[in-house]
Amino acid sequence: MKIIMLGAPGAGKGTQAKMIAQSYKLPHISTGDIFRANIKEGTDLGKEAKTYMDEGKLVPDELTVRILLDRVAKGDCKDGYVLDGFPRTIPQAEVLEKELEKLGDKVDYAINVDVPDENIINRMSGRRACLKCGATYHIKHVPPKKEGICDVCGSELVLRDDDKPETVKKRLDVYHEQTQPLIEFYTKRDVLKTVNGNADPKDVFAAIKEILD
Ligand code: ADP
Ligand code: AMP
Repeated sequence: MKIIMLGAPGAGKGTQAKMIAQSYKLPHISTGDIFRANIKEGTDLGKEAKTYMDEGKLVPDELTVRILLDRVAKGDCKDGYVLDGFPRTIPQAEVLEKELEKLGDKVDYAINVDVPDENIINRMSGRRACLKCGATYHIKHVPPKKEGICDVCGSELVLRDDDKPETVKKRLDVYHEQTQPLIEFYTKRDVLKTVNGNADPKDVFAAIKEILD
């Protein structure tokens, strides 16, 4: 099963993608996590991606597509995957579609996690991320067991540089301009499913499960 998560930054794509991955035994692939891991390791890719990410802009398609295609070519992806944060532009979606077509394959579900813009800023300012294992929390809605410490790996949690309110506003503009058109793209392919993301994470997941089952 090949699943794409759509939605504004902070809509809960990562939170739901992790639950889907665990429940359906699929790899969870987040381009944002791949970039952040590269930034942490100080690679050339990380250095380049950081210049765009810190400004709330998208990393150029060419670079992002290369990273994604390398990842989905790995053995653990042969029975499917959950893509979180990719595609984010029409050209990215077109490349993915062409690559899948070559294998006689296609995206099965594009799940659009719908949250109004006014809730997004609050979600992002409360988000805390583990840069080591990619786990995410929210200081109010999804708190870690011990304040500031990742439940999964024990590392320190941080507020992402791009989750500061001024950058979030820019990221929302970028989302509406470049990513939202994907809703129409996947509606035309008859795979778009929208869920209300403005509910408890467990309830959002129950709605997704109903679609996937
Ligand atoms: P995205 O991957 O779409 O950027 P995340 O999954 O990281 O979004 O979620 C953004 C923030 O909102 C995180 O702090 C997360 O813990 C919190 N969150 C996720 N889903 C919900 C929800 N249904 N209700 C409230 N907060 C949520
Ligand atoms: P995320 O972790 O999905 O919120 O992504 C964080 C940042 O990484 C985004 O704001 C972009 O700068 C960059 N990024 C992640 N995925 C993509 C993508 N598919 N295309 C372009 N940029 C991306």
